[in-house]
Amino acid sequence: MYGQIRFERNPHLKTKPGIQDDLGFGRIFTDHMLVLDYEEGQGWHDPRIIPYAPLSYDPAAMIFHYGQAVFEGLKAFRTESGEIQIFRPDQNAKRLNRSSERLNMPPIDETFIVNAIQELVRVDADWVPSKQGASLYIRPFVIATEAGLGVRPSSRYSFVVIMSPVGAYYEEGLQPVKILVESHYARAVHGGTGGAKAAGNYAASLKAQVLAKEHDCAQVLWLDAIDKKSLEEVGSMNVFFKIGGEVITPSLSGSILEGITRKSIIHLLSDWGIPVTERRISIDEIVQAYENGTLEEAFGTGTAAVVSPIGSLLWQDTPMVINNGEIGELVHKLYDTITGIQYGRIADKHGWMVTC
Ligand SMILES: *Cc1c(COP(=O)(O)O)cnc(C)c1O
Repeated sequence: MYGQIRFERNPHLKTKPGIQDDLGFGRIFTDHMLVLDYEEGQGWHDPRIIPYAPLSYDPAAMIFHYGQAVFEGLKAFRTESGEIQIFRPDQNAKRLNRSSERLNMPPIDETFIVNAIQELVRVDADWVPSKQGASLYIRPFVIATEAGLGVRPSSRYSFVVIMSPVGAYYEEGLQPVKILVESHYARAVHGGTGGAKAAGNYAASLKAQVLAKEHDCAQVLWLDAIDKKSLEEVGSMNVFFKIGGEVITPSLSGSILEGITRKSIIHLLSDWGIPVTERRISIDEIVQAYENGTLEEAFGTGTAAVVSPIGSLLWQDTPMVINNGEIGELVHKLYDTITGIQYGRIADKHGWMVTC
């Protein structure tokens, strides 16, 4: 598909971070990147792995003005035996195309996406950290590159994949976080772009995130845009609650991003025979469960952290402390299982891992 991937080796390889270096998240980038171009009439063409370098586009390129951009996030892991494997890249490829469809951008062959990512990881394989908990974060994205100020879909695009070695999300083990229930700003609306991993969704969320930090909260819990009642997501993670033995996560209403971690967790819970329901859940129901003592656990889910236990929810200036602010048993088991599969310590029964 799209022809052989051309390879131009970087003549100036960077110094790789050492095992003791603090990698942080998304601050360091590998030696190469993948680029694929699109032009109306010609389709996707000229796939190439080239030295990591600044991209250059016309100042009138549509990405700078009308925000036609979607992205993905996935990780490659080094197992104890030294092999490199990627977590569910086929799912990211599918979702990238679903996001593109919403923004009227052209789809990319999903097999090509997965193969191209594998090839890029192989080229920069030495960048996959071997330190416990560290991984190689992979960031594919598509941007509109046609120069022109008329408001219409671009006729040119670039698909780019960059990669960054990242440290363990939890340097000192899982840490419960404080979350602000956001009652003014909204992240997404029905019929909007909330179901797509669109760059603009993030631009719209930053203000609330900053306000949450001012309240000493790590993130916001988004409510639906109309009634400000139904729970949607926590920051850029999906959200789960365990109430009276049942695990509940908001159903995919169109304004919620369909997380691959979310999907994997629903799968694991079903395997374990733990009741898990996708349905509408309101903040009132959470308050009620909190008051009658049935709110057992709450956590966010996403690629970066896998799971993030919620220690307390700040709602109308009153904190609701969950599970004494401690890490729940279920969130712990989910974390250990998913990271176990990712690092090859636990058998991959579902065929989620793709070797490089
Ligand atoms: C990426 C993302 C998630 C998590 O998805 P994963 O596939 O699990 O990483 C959740 N919510 C939003 C808004 C996101 O952008």
